Amino acid sequence: MKTHIRRTGDGRWEGVPVSAYKPGGTHFAGITRQLLFDGGEGLGCQLRYFEIEPGGHSSLERHRHVHAIMVIRGEGRVLVGDRVLDLATHDLVRVPPLTWHQFRAGEGEPFGFLCMVDCGRDTPERPDAGVLAELRRDPAVADFIRV
Ligand code: MN
Repeated sequence: MKTHIRRTGDGRWEGVPVSAYKPGGTHFAGITRQLLFDGGEGLGCQLRYFEIEPGGHSSLERHRHVHAIMVIRGEGRVLVGDRVLDLATHDLVRVPPLTWHQFRAGEGEPFGFLCMVDCGRDTPERPDAGVLAELRRDPAVADFIRV
């Protein structure tokens, strides 16, 4: 495993491929994924870098595993549970277990964040019609979410 990987640009690292966020679908837009650390040699977590272009968003989902996040580029917003939060560079966000969440980029520049997760984790769940109806009871949440 490599000891040092150099940054090659904003949100880019030497030899780290920029991958699709998820295998496919229309429940996300304008988002890429990079796997920076992938466990091993006593490390039980992954560190990923996600970047969302202006107007883009991650999927609305929940799961048992936790996200520990640091914004490192731009500004955006996130739904965590029933709250929509404004995020600036270097803000930190914890997404607790089984908590609905979705990230959206701000205007004008890419929104990038590091996200730490356990290597062993469950598959995300997406909201059904009943969950969406419940979430949309709050007008701010209804306005924010994309599915
Ligand atoms: Mn998630």
